[in-house]
Amino acid sequence: MPTFSVKTPPRPYPCVVERGAMEALARSIPERTGKIFVVTEPRVFKLHGKALHQALAGHPHEVIFFPGGEERKKLAEVESLAEQMVVRGADRSSLVIAFGGGIVGDLGGFLAAIFMRGIPVIQIPTTLQAQVDAAVGGKTGANLVAGKNLIGAFHQPLAVLIDPGLLDTLPHREYVAGLYEVIKYGVISSPALFDRMAHDSKKVLAKDPGVLDEIIAESVRIKAEVVSADEKESGLRRILNFGHTIGHALEAETKYERLLHGEAVAFGMRAAVHLSSLVGCIREGHAERILKCIDLYGELPDLSNVDGLNLVHRTGADKKTIQGRVHFVLVERIGATIIESGLNEKMVLAAVDAALADLVHA
Ligand code: NAD
Repeated sequence: MPTFSVKTPPRPYPCVVERGAMEALARSIPERTGKIFVVTEPRVFKLHGKALHQALAGHPHEVIFFPGGEERKKLAEVESLAEQMVVRGADRSSLVIAFGGGIVGDLGGFLAAIFMRGIPVIQIPTTLQAQVDAAVGGKTGANLVAGKNLIGAFHQPLAVLIDPGLLDTLPHREYVAGLYEVIKYGVISSPALFDRMAHDSKKVLAKDPGVLDEIIAESVRIKAEVVSADEKESGLRRILNFGHTIGHALEAETKYERLLHGEAVAFGMRAAVHLSSLVGCIREGHAERILKCIDLYGELPDLSNVDGLNLVHRTGADKKTIQGRVHFVLVERIGATIIESGLNEKMVLAAVDAALADLVHA
């Protein structure tokens, strides 16, 4: 089983990437665990609940449902789930299993982080986005009206069980949104992964198991390594935000309605690549290679009425902004990035406008 260890101060934990990874579930449950609470969405549970029941192999468990949706990723939902747990006999020996996409993972993880001041969680991600990103690294949380993920906690899971086979039922658009995060890992850290995404796009898009399992494993390896070096994002972990500064601004500008997170990141990566060219830090030919690779995975939703200047102004509200200085992850070459802050607003606007123009001419 390809297993990557995330070495965080609370304790190290494994991320298993394998078809049938859920079979490791019973082994991942500590002795003397009390009642288990599976937090999931009706849609996911309908498709894959039977496999989960089987994997729990006789461990007493309750299933509690979250209806799904970014607009419901709220503290009120966490409270409602916690109330249901109490009614159904949860105590400090209980365990949460977050079984779903990134929203269930974030919310279920947050629930575990604060329920009776903290109980353990096991993450079983069911979207590509959650498998390669959200489920690994212990960031949990919920949205405020003022913005996404503005409340939360670091709560590292006991284990992350990643079964690429669960993606067979994932809608194509959701799948492609996750692929943009895989391209991100290639650009920031792995020329080999980038080449895979650039040269094998047909197999990747067809969910060819040989290729898919490999790109997930490589992404998880990178995420595990980065989080192990910098759990709380005070240094290296910030490279994972490549494409996210503008991506988050775009999500907010379009009211979280028009784009999936990964699609917004794809646009943000395009803008960051243009910015890298304008700053003059990117090696010749690499900007074109990255933009071409992103293009292979399809068209982004129409952004013709998005105003570049509004996006630039919104970057100031990003929660990664520190004391008013907006940080951008820029590319030196495929596999290596630098972090720049305090960039000239006109230059950032030129990069955003170039990314918007790419979409018009595509
Ligand atoms: P999501 O959780 O909304 O899932 C997307 C859709 O796929 C949902 O409609 C869900 O019902 C459906 N689905 C899930 N698994 C399925 C399956 N196997 N088959 C069929 N349908 C399935 O969205 P997401 O993209 O997985 O996650 C987005 C969230 O992740 C955002 O809230 C974002 O903030 C968060 N996130 C967190 C981190 C982190 O480090 N914690 C990192 C990145 C993103």
